[in-house]
Amino acid sequence: MTKLANDTSTKTDWNKIRSQFPVLDQKINGQDLVYLDNAASSQMPVIVSDRIDHYHKKEHSNVHRGIHSLSQKATDAYESTRTKVQEFINARHKEEIIFTTGTTDSINLVAQSYGRKNFNTGDEIILSEMEHHANIVPWQLIAEETGAVLRIVPMNDAGELDMDTYESLLSEKTKMVAIVHVSNALGTVNPVKEIINLAHQNESLVLIDGAQAVPHSKVDIQDLDADFYTFSAHKMCGPTGFGVLYGKKEILQDMPPYRGGGDMIDKVTFEETTWNDLPYKFEAGTPPIAAGIGLGSAIDYLNEIGMDEIASREAQLLDYATKRINDLEGVRIIGTAKDKASVISFLIDNIHSTDAGTILDQKGIAVRTGHHCAQPIMQHYDIPGTARASISFYNTEEDIDKLIDGIKYVKDFFS
Ligand code: PLP
Repeated sequence: MTKLANDTSTKTDWNKIRSQFPVLDQKINGQDLVYLDNAASSQMPVIVSDRIDHYHKKEHSNVHRGIHSLSQKATDAYESTRTKVQEFINARHKEEIIFTTGTTDSINLVAQSYGRKNFNTGDEIILSEMEHHANIVPWQLIAEETGAVLRIVPMNDAGELDMDTYESLLSEKTKMVAIVHVSNALGTVNPVKEIINLAHQNESLVLIDGAQAVPHSKVDIQDLDADFYTFSAHKMCGPTGFGVLYGKKEILQDMPPYRGGGDMIDKVTFEETTWNDLPYKFEAGTPPIAAGIGLGSAIDYLNEIGMDEIASREAQLLDYATKRINDLEGVRIIGTAKDKASVISFLIDNIHSTDAGTILDQKGIAVRTGHHCAQPIMQHYDIPGTARASISFYNTEEDIDKLIDGIKYVKDFFS
């Protein structure tokens, strides 16, 4: 991510790319929309929405069940996404790709299935101070149920994990390390390869929350060697309601199902039920088929641009925005890690982030405000929240300039 900050991206016509996102071409509150809330949900290019539309118009049918041709078409389209995801993250096996409704669902699956079977009183789950609530609460729930205990890796004021403390927390009690790859509130890119390596030396499993990493740079799961890795389609130009749990095959095979129902079974009698093979053991019921096909199309789209190209462009925009915000008096960036992705959290003077966000919205500028589902981060800085501009490759320098003008306007408004 930042290591690409000085690369000059020349291959791609970014104006053409931007024109593929019709939602960006509209007025909000009478102003041109400046969409800088990509960490919450990125926008969808027309090729992806067309693909979803095509499914609804020409392929709509249930998957995995029908002998008829339409169902086979839907199944082929839906299952082709599994192969695309496998290749996109370089997983060893297709069965290691479990479809879920998103990162939250993926983490709950691991906590409820792996955790319930394997955690005992006094076992420890290591999280970090910069986790999204989705990577805190599922562990709290299973810890309460099993008697396991949460241990927290602190961070410094730049928003970087204290790796010495992390190492010292690892012990024979550590059953799981669950850490975010890229912080949604700070932009910090964590040294996950080192985190995983240290955990494995300690014989602990690792789940990486990759919700903010997969959309922005190449993730090679075999290189990282994570045991579990999670992400959501709606943050990577795909639709809502769909996501991925990657898990190592041998670990998934040993885990019980998380939900029961159709599709996840082999044989059902009232006395006993046996489970379907991976990945279907974890996919009960009719899935969001259109959304799954949409994720496949989003992956094709991202691949066509190239993840290195995307990372390089976003690093340029992050650099530009950081410099411009740093030039503004009274504006403080929260999260200044050395390795950052394209997220800038900031405070304007003593203005409450919600007030700042409301005024920016009047100028057509969409940023996120508040605690960003990461309240422990706000507790670290002793602040109620921040305004957050999260940048995608289809943003432009002009969007950043409009944000800067908007921040100046907010300052004037409250002065
Ligand atoms: N983890 C991180 C780092 C996130 O940014 C988010 C969403 O913002 C999530 C988890 C939860 O993702 P979802 O709401 O798609 O389940």
